[in-house]
Amino acid sequence: MRKQIAAANWKMNLTIEQGAALLEGIIAKQQNLKEDQQAIFAVPAPYIQMAQHKIAGKESMFVAAQNCYSKKNGAYTGETSVEMLQSLGVKYVVLGHSERREYFQESNQLLAEKLNICLEYNIHPIFCCGEPLNIREANTQNEYVAKQLEESLFHLSAEQVQQVVIAYEPIWAIGTGKTATSEQAQEMHAFIREQLAVKYGSGVAANISILYGGSVKAANAAEIFSQPDVDGGLVGGASLVVDEFVAIIGALK
Ligand code: 13P
Repeated sequence: MRKQIAAANWKMNLTIEQGAALLEGIIAKQQNLKEDQQAIFAVPAPYIQMAQHKIAGKESMFVAAQNCYSKKNGAYTGETSVEMLQSLGVKYVVLGHSERREYFQESNQLLAEKLNICLEYNIHPIFCCGEPLNIREANTQNEYVAKQLEESLFHLSAEQVQQVVIAYEPIWAIGTGKTATSEQAQEMHAFIREQLAVKYGSGVAANISILYGGSVKAANAAEIFSQPDVDGGLVGGASLVVDEFVAIIGALK
C-alpha cells in the first residue's frame, strides 16, 4: 500500500536555532503516525545533521535534502553529492522543484540524471512536476506534465519507479495563497497515475505516492488529501509554523 506523506519544504528559510525549535515543537505535539503515514522534512543542507538528530528514533519521520548533484564526486564546487547524503543517512531528496527549474535552469534531462544517481544510492527522489499559469490557462497542463514525466522518469524500470515519490505542484499555486481546487488536484493526480499505469501497469501505479503542493495549509489540507489520488502534500510556507504543520500531518488519510 502506498504511503501517505506530509513533506515539509523549508526552502531557504530559518536559522539553525529556528529550525531546531520548529522540529522540537512539531515532535512535542505530534501524535503517533499510522503505519502507512510519514512526515518528511526537506531542510537546508547545512541543517541535515541537526534535523537527523532531532528526529532520531522517530520511525515515521525522515529528513530530506532539497537538491543534489548529478555527478558522483569531483570538482563541482558548492554542490552536494548523493554519496554525501547517503553518508548522513538521508533517505529522500527533493528533485526538480519549480524554483530549481526556474532559477537554476534544471532541465528534464538533468533531472533524469539526478534521479538515476539517487536510485543508484538507494535514496528516494521526491520528483516535482507541475505547470506554469500560462499553460493552465491554455488548458494544456496534461501534455506539459506528461512531457516532464516522459523525459525525466519514464526511462526507469518498474522496480526503480516505485522508489520515487511524485509531487504535483502547479507553479501558479506556489506561495501565492492560490490553491488548486481539490477537484483540479484530483484530476491531475489521476492523470499522472494513469500515465504511470499505461507505462508500468496499474499495480505499479497504485504503489506510487503522489503529493500535492501549492499553498497547502491547515485549513485546506484535509479536503485536498481526502481526494482518492492525493497521497499527502509537499508544503512550503505552512511547514514553517509548528501548529500548521502538525495539523497538516493530522490531515493525512
Ligand atoms: P507553498 O506551500 O509555500 O505554496 O510552497 C509549495 C512548495 O513549493 C512546496 O515545495
